[in-house]
Amino acid sequence: MIDERLLEILVCPACRTKVRLEGERLVCQNPACGLRYPVRDDIPVMLIHEAEKPEKAERRDQGPGTRDPGKET
Ligand SMILES: [Zn+2]
Repeated sequence: MIDERLLEILVCPACRTKVRLEGERLVCQNPACGLRYPVRDDIPVMLIHEAEKPEKAERRDQGPGTRDPGKET
């Protein structure tokens, strides 16, 4: 088990958001980030390059149909 006091102070190094323990991983609470950090020997590995990206890694900001309403005149 990971010490809850440790969890309290852990934040995602990518976005500085708190993480939550989900099963064997620590998941960033920021929905825009959502990185999942492994836990090895009860020690959280808070490294961006060790983290898994969320399954739904779609990025809305590069889809087609980017409009800018209110830009007439
Ligand atoms: Zn994050």
